[in-house]
Amino acid sequence: MSDRDPDCLFCKIVAGEVPADIVLENDEAVAFRDINPQAPTHVLVIPKVHQPNAAELARNAPDALAGVFTTAAEVAAGEGLEDYRAVFNTGAGVGQTVFHAHLHVLGGRDFAWPPG
Ligand code: 5GP
Ligand code: ZN
Repeated sequence: MSDRDPDCLFCKIVAGEVPADIVLENDEAVAFRDINPQAPTHVLVIPKVHQPNAAELARNAPDALAGVFTTAAEVAAGEGLEDYRAVFNTGAGVGQTVFHAHLHVLGGRDFAWPPG
């Protein structure tokens, strides 16, 4: 698979072709604010390579997956969050709408468990 899918919204954000409120960027990942935030902090951390979900990312680009999680920790620290929730939706049945792996980093409010 190519590192990029020409029809993918998040690949276009990585390339700077679609604007986003970028929080930080490094060799492996880009972090930007969700357009429809579900918490005071709601940042999406995405790998620069195109993979459709977290498991495929782990299989095909494990360093990028590790980079997504370390980037999430940097985002949380930058937001002043000691605690945060990190979520990968996998599959339309649980609400995945963009099929470029992305880690939701959520914080700044109370969270229920189970998540629902
Ligand atoms: P999913 O539902 O696939 O787990 O998450 C996709 C997320 O991407 C949603 O929370 C949605 O609000 C966000 N999103 C969709 N389109 C855009 C966009 O163009 N810009 C940004 N910043 N977020 C987006
Ligand atoms: Zn993509």
